[in-house]
Parts: sequence; structure tokens; C-alpha cells
Amino acid sequence: MARMANPAYSTWSTTTGASALATAKRARGLRACRRFSDGQGKKTVARCGARFGLRCPAYSSRVSTVVGTSSSLACAASFSRKPFARSVARVSDRQQEGLCVVGLRQAARGGCVKASGKKKDDDNPYSDTVLLPQTDFSMRANAKAREPELQAWWRENQVYEELLRQNRSAGGDNFTLHDGPPYANGTLHLGHAMNKVLKDIIVKHRLLKGKSAAFVPGWDCHGLPIELKVLQSLKSKERKGLTPMSMRGKARDFALKTIGEQAEQFKRYGVWGDYEKRYQTLDPEYEAKQLEVFGRMFMEGHIYRGLKPVNWSPSSRTALAEAELEYPPGHKSRSIYVAMPLAETKAEALEGLEASLAIWTTTPWTIPANLAVAVNSEIEYAVCKMEGGGSSHLIVASDLVESLSEKIGRALSIVAKLKGSELEGCTYKHPLYERTSPVVIGGDYITTESGTGLVHTAPGHGQDDFQVGQKYGLPILSPVDNAGRLTSEAGEEFEGLNVLGDANEAIIAALEREGALLLEELYEHKYPYDWRTKKPTIFRATEQWFASVDGFKKDALDAIDSVEWIPKAGVKRIRAMTSDRSDWCISRQRKWGVPIPVFYKKDSGEAIVTEETLKHVIDLVREKGSDAWFELPVEDLLPESLKAEASNLTKGEDTMDVWFDSGSSWAGVVSAREELNYPADLYLEGSDQHRGWFQSSLLTSVAVNGCAPYKTVLTHGFVLDEKGAKMSKSLGNIIDPKNIIEGGNNQKKDPAYGADTLRLWVSSVDYSSDVLIGPSILKQTSEIYRKLRGTIRFVLGNLHDFNPESDAVSYDSLPLFDKYILHQLVTVQEEVDSNFESFQFSKVFQTIQRFNVVDLSQFYLDVVKDRLYIRGSDSFERKSCQTVLKHMLDTLLPMIAPILPHLAEDAWQNLPFQTSSKSVFLHGLAEAKSEWKMSGADLQELEILRSVRSEVNRVAEIARKDKLIGSSLEAKVVIRTDSQELHTILSKYSESANGVDELRYLFICSQVDLKEGPAGEGVTEIPEVGTFRATIERAGGLRCARCWNYSDTVGTFGDHKELCDRCHPVVQGKKAVANVAA
Ligand SMILES: [Zn+2]
Repeated sequence: MARMANPAYSTWSTTTGASALATAKRARGLRACRRFSDGQGKKTVARCGARFGLRCPAYSSRVSTVVGTSSSLACAASFSRKPFARSVARVSDRQQEGLCVVGLRQAARGGCVKASGKKKDDDNPYSDTVLLPQTDFSMRANAKAREPELQAWWRENQVYEELLRQNRSAGGDNFTLHDGPPYANGTLHLGHAMNKVLKDIIVKHRLLKGKSAAFVPGWDCHGLPIELKVLQSLKSKERKGLTPMSMRGKARDFALKTIGEQAEQFKRYGVWGDYEKRYQTLDPEYEAKQLEVFGRMFMEGHIYRGLKPVNWSPSSRTALAEAELEYPPGHKSRSIYVAMPLAETKAEALEGLEASLAIWTTTPWTIPANLAVAVNSEIEYAVCKMEGGGSSHLIVASDLVESLSEKIGRALSIVAKLKGSELEGCTYKHPLYERTSPVVIGGDYITTESGTGLVHTAPGHGQDDFQVGQKYGLPILSPVDNAGRLTSEAGEEFEGLNVLGDANEAIIAALEREGALLLEELYEHKYPYDWRTKKPTIFRATEQWFASVDGFKKDALDAIDSVEWIPKAGVKRIRAMTSDRSDWCISRQRKWGVPIPVFYKKDSGEAIVTEETLKHVIDLVREKGSDAWFELPVEDLLPESLKAEASNLTKGEDTMDVWFDSGSSWAGVVSAREELNYPADLYLEGSDQHRGWFQSSLLTSVAVNGCAPYKTVLTHGFVLDEKGAKMSKSLGNIIDPKNIIEGGNNQKKDPAYGADTLRLWVSSVDYSSDVLIGPSILKQTSEIYRKLRGTIRFVLGNLHDFNPESDAVSYDSLPLFDKYILHQLVTVQEEVDSNFESFQFSKVFQTIQRFNVVDLSQFYLDVVKDRLYIRGSDSFERKSCQTVLKHMLDTLLPMIAPILPHLAEDAWQNLPFQTSSKSVFLHGLAEAKSEWKMSGADLQELEILRSVRSEVNRVAEIARKDKLIGSSLEAKVVIRTDSQELHTILSKYSESANGVDELRYLFICSQVDLKEGPAGEGVTEIPEVGTFRATIERAGGLRCARCWNYSDTVGTFGDHKELCDRCHPVVQGKKAVANVAA
């Protein structure tokens, strides 16, 4: 077990920001002391142990004020009981022994073995009468070892499953956060970690609130990236021998192996879920559900087959979805200006003229597929005489005459003007082929921003071109094969040339030869690339399967409006992306995927899909998985009624776009499982999923069921490095989440922070935009973690002799100071819960952090140390405080558990009293006791007292600097006020019957003197109350050897001349008990 630290050290760390890591080095004595800074890197804070509870100057004062060498003096004082008397070296020796006070007590109970060898120092006869904290809960998280232990304990005790059962049987509502499946390919990065931790925080919070919040982790398993991984892993000989089935087998193995590895990582982050019943898009049942979605859409008429230009990647020989494209900067195309000579004209302005249409294109290879020139009916065009062009004229948009003239270096003089609409119906001759084509009216995409205002139109190679072609009944010519080579349809001259390579060269040369080329120039623009091969793509018409989004676009837009989008800007993004989107090409020419279950007639190529064929195939897939499609002969894939026709049919070879796979997860998982809500309560992914999973899920769900698959969609930004740069291999700034948890190769540079620190970081950032992480951010986060751990340890340690059954003090009997901190606790509890509900975790983080540092460490826990250590074990002063500390644990531990599950559980396992729940999670969130909220005069008075306390702290620090006092217990605080109201309030607390609600304890000084009358110079104002002035004098009387308070009563007790009136009865009581025992 971990060696016990002197509790006084650890409680300090909550106050001072001193590093707990250094606590572990405490045995090195002063060397460790000096290592502690106050967080601002300036002051060295004393970490002397206040051994035996004796108050050294540092201990009893606000630690942040102890600077420089006073730390060593403070230590010396605590060990020698003669302030400032001992040498530094002596302190160092002594400190090592001093550290073991608690250890010895532990040893007596069979605890700390290491410490038991140390000899107890009994310089102080009262050492055993002081009640120091005791706990096995270590200051060090030791996360690398401890977190896996806790996770194993959760598994063995089935805490997640038990909690779900408990919530279900109590009638808790379902809450469904549906997991967007990560791709089962490669290692996880910080974006994955942030995503899964955010989800887990939400799920754990809802579970703690009593909801039936099952979380089913999922994985996206099919598609090209995995196929590529498999291909890359094979030697070229093996690759040649690969059959579709052996490829699929290897791809499946690869996906399953990756899933296993990723699942272990997610579990290590502390992410809970039904890992046993996880969903995988390669599961037969899932595939069957996906095919049902396809079937329903088919039967509704939303699926069709068509020749259509799609984004085609010649490098991977497949069609690509919009989401699979990227637009790297700096792409340059060979753009050309071409003259297309008019054949027939109806426009008067052109009668008798020899004229050509000037067109411009950035894809010369599409010239063979040119079937029209489109103009904008609203734009004005000019007929220009071209210098040196004989009798020939050029037609170009009026606005572009000048720029074109400059480009081609020839004067253009306008001879006539006409509207675009007047050009419609003219025909022109193709410069390379014996054919004429029409001038057509295009859409708004034709502008005068660049080019000539006349658009080269190839319906087989462009989206707008295709639309216009449909309107005018043009054929869809696409003389390019899968590999991107021109086919015989392009003519003998060009057949076999690569459209991304030598085809452009040849076509430009031919145009020049025919005298049609006006100009060639390089043109830099956005151009789509294949996101995997990083090679340019082309638009190419192929036979593909489509989901006709137009058919249900309006419903989809209505469904978008019914969803809550967080942040709100998300609705605009998805609305724009959905309303702009054209039909969804869902077919891919790959092997590793779910087949599109279609048969084709061998003779006519006609596609056969019926309700019966669908059902038969779906049943087969449900039973054998989608391998069945690839493995079985056509006859077996056909239903009884069609078997006879098997010889005339073939099965389709296309597989589905993986976005259709993951986009069907609402059907494969959410609506398929009883414990989940459909529509799901929440989808939560990166903001890039507006065009990815959010949209594909929406489209399939709307097409089949007419509703969105989710009620709320939450998006988060991306993880950047500390300077705001994208993480990349080339920059070398990638932070592996595994290294944050387990530490890097150099543990000094990259210490093992543990999953809780990673999770605390996730909670701390504003994830609505991009978030930053790096070594210094992690270090700060771990400091915050340690402070919280220190607070929890202090509270646990001070409850070692508390039995809630018999010792608890009723709320009504509690001192006001205690009621006040319970008021703060309930306020924090409500604030935290509402921020958890609205997914504002950074506010949860800030609220807990502020409560811990400002209200607990620097205030309440600082003030109550005296009560806890000095008062008798059965005293009201101690028991009332312990009652509060128990409430604190009951509330705080479940409250932080969604973010810091390991810390909360570790503390729960170390509770020094019996509880009805074996896990903090089974305990659930504590009920917020609104009756603990204070109001009116009491609350106002306590807030005023806190203001006065800050001022007293300030002047005490000056007094210490001026060496008027060493510790605050040497002080008498004098408060002068001319405010009747303030005087009355302060007087109320000058002496109290309960021994708690007193100013001297609040200020941690020995005496307080209240004076009425003019406060004089340097007053402090409390708004609406009045002004006061606090000054420090040396306290009167002698110092008590046990509690270090100064009192006139020291010296008045015959049997214990060194004790004060508070300590005397405690020590006597102890003795009496000891005698009885003897
Ligand atoms: Zn005393």
C-alpha cells in the first residue's frame, strides 16, 4: 500500500497549490519543501508537518504568505517547539520521522509497514491527544496502476450492468445517446478520446440520475480504407491470388482485430458501455437491417439506377461520395479558350456573319464529350470583330470582352450586342468531330466572373451540364473508362489516353491544329481529390445506384427543424448542406461492403428487385452474413418463384456506400433494441459530421419513417496543439491519448497522468469550437486534479472516528458556519446538475474547481482544522464538523463521478463508515436539499463576515512581513468600525455558546477585539453596511503547548501548566479514559 503522508501536508496542498508529487518526495525533507511553489512560481511554501498537531507559524497561518527561508524556519518551529531554533539540517532529519506519525498509527492497525520501523518522537507529551486525519486514501493518484484496478473492480462487480438494472427496476426513463461508429481502421487519436469521454460524461451523469442510459458502442467496418490496408499488407503475388471472398475474409479479420484494440482503449479512458453487445456494421443482423432500409427505400421509389456523372476516382477506380473528397490548395489546371464556329443562327444580329462561340474550360479532356454550349438568358453578349482574324467574329459576354481581348492579345471591336435568350437554338460545329450541337440556356451558374460567359457543356462530365442536358434531352456521353482513359467513343486519335495525363496535351494540340484554340493558360482553383489516394478525381457518368434525395428533401428539411442543434449554428450548416445536395450515389465498386441486392437480366441488363427477392436475400444475410451474396450461386440467392430463371440472371457486383452502412445504425441498433429510444435522445460527434453521419442517418430515417433519427445533435470542434496548430505527423505535435494516460517513453517529460486527468481536461474545454491541448495545459489540469484529490483526502481523513448512525448532528443543531458551507454545497450542486443537463461541462468544471479552492480549501477547511484536531473526539465542535464533511462526501463524490469516475470510486472505497452502496455509482446523485439553502439575515451576515475575513487576512500578512507576528495565532485582530450595523453583527460572533461560530476561529487568530467609533485611515467598505479597519497586535497571554493559541488561561491549571482552557479538559478526559483502560 502507499505510504501514508502526514495529513497536514496534504491538506496544505489543497490550500497552496503545492504539488502532491512533491509530497511523495517528502521523506527527503527540506529538499522537498523547497520544491513547492504557490503556483505563481515565486514563493516557496513551507510544508512542515505541524507535527503532532502543534501549530508552527506556517501551518497556522495562511500558507501562501510564507515565503523564502521562512519555510525552513516554519519547519524548525514545528519540530522543536522552539520557534526558529533549529538548524535546517535538523529539520530535514526530523521531518523524516515526523512524517510517520500517521504511519505508526496505521502500523498499529496492521497498516503502514514501511513506517512502522520509525521511532516515535515523544518530545511533546500531548501528541497523542491531537486528532490528526487518518486514511488509506493516498495523496498520489498512482493512476497507471490504480485506475485499471478500479476498472477491473467495476467489471467484476458489474457496476454498469447493476446500475442499469437498478434504474430500470425503479422505473427510470430510457436515455439514449447513440454512438457514432468510429472507423475500424488504425489507432485512436485525441479527437476519438474527446468524443468518447464527452459521451461517457453524459451517460454516467444520466445513470447517476436514475435514467436507464444504456450505451452501445459501435464500429464502422466496411469500405475502401480497410481494403487498402489488406492490399498493402500483401505481397504482389498474394494480391494476384486474392479472390473476393479471401479479400473479404482478410478485411473482416482486420476490422475485428482493430475493434478489439480500440475497445480496450475506450475502456481504459473509463468509458462504460455494452461492449459485449456492441454493434458492428459487419454483423449479419446489422447488415440485414441495413438491407431492410434499402428495401423500404427501393419500394417507396427512392432508389433508382442511372447514368450520371459522379465523382470518380481513377486512382481507386470507384465512385466517391462528397465526404470522401478533399480540396488541397494549389491545384493548377491547363485551361483553354476555344472558338466553336456557328453553323446555323436565328439571331438577327448574327445574320451573314462568320462567328464563333468563345468557350472556356479547365478540363480540355472533356472537349470530346461536348454536346452543347450554355448561355445565361439574362446576360448580354457581344459580337466582336477580331483583329487579324479575317472576316471571323467572336461571341463573348459583353462584360468580358476587354479581359478576353487582353488575354488573347488581339483587339476585339464590338459590332453587335444581343441577349443570351436570343442565342438559344443556334447550332455550332464541334471543332474536332463532324457534328453540330445546340446553344442552350443554362442556369445561374453561368456568370461573367471568369471565362467568357458561354459554358462548354458535357452532360457526361458535370453536374450542371447533366441537368441542362436532361432539360434539352441531350445524350449522356462519357467516353472515359474506369481507369480514366478515353475510349473509342472519343475517336481513334485519342483512344487510350489518360484524361489526367496525356489526353489534355493531345486534345489541345488537335484544337490548335484545327485553328480553334484561342489561348491556353495555367489556372489555379479548387479541385476535388480522392481523400485516400490523394490523387485528382474526375466527373464521369457511370451506371450507379442513387437515392433520390429530391423525393424526400422537403421532409428532411422539416425534420431538421424538429431537432435541437447544439451549438445553434449547426442547424444552418446541415440545412444548407441538405438543401444543396443532389441525389445520393450509394453504389461503390468494391468488394468489402454490403451488396446492393439486385439481379440483372443477362440479355437486356434490366435490374430485378422485388419485395420477394429482397426478403429472400435479407433472410440469407441475416443467417449467413453478407458473404452469402458473394459466395452463393445466383440460384440460391433467388426466391423459389424465380429459381427457374437463374440461368438468365446475374447478381449485381456493387456494394453500398459506407455512409449508407453507418447511416442505417438507427435501424440496426436504436430502433432494434428495446432498451433504446428511437428517435435517439442524442447524437454527439465532431462538426464535420453535418455532411457525414448526421446527414446520412437523417436521410435514411426520413425516407423510411418520415422523422429524424435523433432529438438533439451536439457537435464538438477539433483538437489542436497548444499553439492552435492542427496535429500532424510532419509537425511532430501529435499527442497520443495513450501517452497522456500511461506516460511516454520519457516519464519525466511525459508523466502518466491517468484517464481522470484526460477526462478532466475534456470537461474543462469549451468544445463548441476547436480545443487546445499540450504539455503545459496537461500539467495545469493535473494540478487541479491533485487539489481536488487533496481536499477529498482531508475530508476522508477527518472522518476516521465518525459513525454517521450515532454521531451525526441534526441540521437544525449545526453551527451557522457549518450551515453556511452546506448552503454553498447545495448551490453548487444545483448549478452543476443544470450544467450537466445542458451539456456545459466547462461550467461544471469551473463551478467544482471554484468551490474546491475558494470555499473549501481557502475557507471552510482552513477554519475547521482547529476544531477537528484540538477538540475532543466526542465534542460537539468535532462532530458537527464531521457531519458536514460526511454530507460533503455524499454530495461531492457522485457529483464529480461522471468526469472523474476513478477518483470518485477510489474515495468511495475508502469511506471510513458503512454505506448501503458498494459503488459511488450505485449510490447515485445526492438529493439537493433545498431546505439547506440559507436566506435573509443569516446569509447576509455570513457573507459580510467573509468580506471582513479577507481584509483581516490581508493585514495579517503585512504584519507577518513586518515581523510583528510569526503566525496568525500570535495575533490579536482589532476591528474598529463606526457602522452600528457592522458592530452589531461582529459582536454577535465575538463569543458563541457552541464554540464554533466565533470570529477568532474564522480569522484563525488567538483573540479579537471589537471597537466602536471612527475607523480612521485606510478603511475598507462593505457596500450598504459601512466601513471598518482591521489591525494586528500581538496576542495577550501565553501560548498553549497543545493548540498554540495564546490565552490568559495558560498557566492556570495546576496539573497542566502549559495548557489553555480549551485543551485542559480534552487532555484530562483522555487521561481518565486511559486510566480506565489500564
Ligand atoms: Zn490549547
